[in-house]
Amino acid sequence: MKKVLIVTGGSRGIGAATAKLAATQGYAVCVNYLRNQQAADAVVAEIQALGGTAIAMQADLSVEAQVLALFHRVDLELGPVTALVNNAGILEKQSSLLDMDQSRLQRVFAANVMGPMLCAREAVKRMSVKFGGTGGAIVNVSSVASLLGAPGEYIDYAASKGALDSFTIGLSKEVADQGIRVNSVRPGFIYTDIHASGGEPRRVDRIKDAIPMKRGGQPEEVAQAILWLLSDQASYATGTFIDLAGGR
Ligand code: NAP
Repeated sequence: MKKVLIVTGGSRGIGAATAKLAATQGYAVCVNYLRNQQAADAVVAEIQALGGTAIAMQADLSVEAQVLALFHRVDLELGPVTALVNNAGILEKQSSLLDMDQSRLQRVFAANVMGPMLCAREAVKRMSVKFGGTGGAIVNVSSVASLLGAPGEYIDYAASKGALDSFTIGLSKEVADQGIRVNSVRPGFIYTDIHASGGEPRRVDRIKDAIPMKRGGQPEEVAQAILWLLSDQASYATGTFIDLAGGR
């Protein structure tokens, strides 16, 4: 059966590592991105150079019409999606709740909660055996922040990941008898660009001595867990979470 994967936010960081690893395992991959076309094209070129199939597609997943356009194009160019990694996510400048206005909360929740829910809805329509699909798997990329709360840094982000965790539990049960598994990874402190968005590019190095394993993680270490959850090897796992945080 043809394996077709959409990785949201596949241009950089954990998403790029996931897209590249998936291609080596036989997935045709749609690399979604928001702004950084150059980075997305580089991921696609790397996959194609190894003989894999990949396309890059810009879409802001906090906008429903763009989610619909993304899935429509994948239908046409790669075929119906069989795997979805809801990886795209954002955080904003480190601050306390007192400095968070409504527009910030709207941006964070639109990208980190509504986008994944809309993408999952479109994926379920195509995967569900109830609607003639052949089944599939969804992995939501949450964060250990959902458990730790991120006080003084970004409790809005942590709360959005908490909502994503509840969504993983609920959707996993809703579609469990439709051939679709829904799971999640919760990374901890991974070396990517996201920390620069919070205003502290070297955040992982500052924190690493407080991590039980005394080091930050690499995007590839998260990608391995995501690909396992997508695979048939995880055939009896749904509604489950893998924490990748070096201990906590
Ligand atoms: P990153 O390096 O900042 O990359 C973010 C990716 O998301 C980029 O590809 C970006 O596209 C895309 N993106 C952002 N907003 C989008 C939107 N509205 N629509 C479509 N794409 C969008 O992030 P990362 O560190 O790899 O994080 C990936 C996921 O892991 C996120 O959900 C994050 O919350 C989670 N996570 C990360 C860590 C960590 O330590 N890094 C820890 C816990 C959880 P452009 O390239 O076009 O900007």
